[in-house]
Amino acid sequence: MRSSDSGTIHIIGAGLAGLAAGVRLADRGRAIIIHEATEQPGGRCRSYYDETTGMLIDNGTHLVLSGNHDARAFARKIGTEARLEGPAAADFPFVDLATNKRWTLQFGNGFFPWWIFDKHRRVPQTSVFDYLSLARLAWASTDKPLGEVISDAGPLYKRLISPFLLAALNIEPLNASSKLAAALIRETLAQGGKACRPLMAREGIGNVFIEPAVNYLRQRGVTVSFKHELHGLRFADHRVLELDFGDEVVSLGENDTVILAVPAYAADRLVPDLQAPSSFRPIVNVHFRVDSPHSFPPMIGVVNGTSDWIFSTPGRISVTVSDAERLSRMPREAIAREIWKDVAAVMKLPIELPPWQIVRERRATFAATPEENAKRPQAETEWDNLFLAGDWTATGLPATLEGAIRSGNRAADLVKLNRQIAA
Ligand SMILES: Cc1cc2nc3c(=O)[nH]c(=O)nc-3n(C[C@H](O)[C@H](O)[C@H](O)COP(=O)(O)OP(=O)(O)OC[C@H]3O[C@@H](n4cnc5c(N)ncnc54)[C@H](O)[C@@H]3O)c2cc1C
Repeated sequence: MRSSDSGTIHIIGAGLAGLAAGVRLADRGRAIIIHEATEQPGGRCRSYYDETTGMLIDNGTHLVLSGNHDARAFARKIGTEARLEGPAAADFPFVDLATNKRWTLQFGNGFFPWWIFDKHRRVPQTSVFDYLSLARLAWASTDKPLGEVISDAGPLYKRLISPFLLAALNIEPLNASSKLAAALIRETLAQGGKACRPLMAREGIGNVFIEPAVNYLRQRGVTVSFKHELHGLRFADHRVLELDFGDEVVSLGENDTVILAVPAYAADRLVPDLQAPSSFRPIVNVHFRVDSPHSFPPMIGVVNGTSDWIFSTPGRISVTVSDAERLSRMPREAIAREIWKDVAAVMKLPIELPPWQIVRERRATFAATPEENAKRPQAETEWDNLFLAGDWTATGLPATLEGAIRSGNRAADLVKLNRQIAA
């Protein structure tokens, strides 16, 4: 098979980074083909029907914050932003399972973190001065483990910094890259409640970001082909010359371009001498087919439990555990029982286990340490027609939907620029 002579853009991977690149380029009148190895789009961000529980479940409950502007702009473009639902103000209820104390952080809805100056809204038992450490962190220039930059003593760390950063960085925060933590704080907490409203996909994350994106692309003539795994890239003269799909080899014309939007471990096999993150962290999600008590909040943070966040939607309770190394090696039923114990305690529900399903994503994100962060490559490569995308490339953000979309946008912009220079 030969590519179109007018120039075809081959996007490898139909995760969010690849889909974002496709959506950004779809109106440019160029032939675009997305090649996805599996039989469904979405990669690490997908919904599917689970036979065991009889529910449509997400591989992981994905949370977007209102300050994630690129993720929201992407949803807006494909017509699904209204499916991201959340409260009018940034309220985060918490429970401490060791003391059974409950509190709600109320960041409000402003453009500045005024809540810090209100003793009824900031973290219980903290003073305004405790928050100076966050300001220092947000503008720190060198990358170090967070534990070398801020202290873990005191309630501010335990009740705000740790749950917030664990969820966003998927690593024990004290080992995390201070640069990535700082980027998150600058884009969300430091922007006030307006940027911190939690937004969720009640009808499944695929229904917001994935299937509608594929429809959007197909309506604009983009080919999205599944079970089409790239096995190898062949290079010569600073260019990619051929795409090897095993049973088929695609020869690239001089105007053809490739955006490689696969995970770091897959890119490492395809691109010679690529420097990329090589250490990863798991996330475990448990979904229970049961109603939460009436008027229970849609999400609650858990301190001193196995669970990190408990999410409720009608007929379902889902629990997320980040950096879940221990759980990812445990028998499945033991995980379900341990997590349900937390849920039953938080929601005062019977201890009998309802129907459940567990999704273990062993390489959910790259390990957000300073060492791994330093290995993230730029989108440009030494090959003129090859660009990289993915949450693991140098986006400046941790591995998140926002980062994945930003990386796809960046790769698409480089393709456009490359084309303008070539013309
Ligand atoms: C359980 C879980 C919970 C999460 N929660 C959140 C959250 O709450 N908020 C948030 O912002 N982020 C969250 N994330 C992170 C977010 O899902 C990822 O950052 C994002 O989905 C990564 O998108 P991507 O396109 O970079 O990579 P991927 O989604 O991994 O996409 C890569 C695609 O490439 C395909 N592929 C691989 N090799 C080949 C090949 N050789 N040929 C063709 N195709 C190939 C793969 O099948 C895949 O579809 C979570 C992730 C997980 C796993």
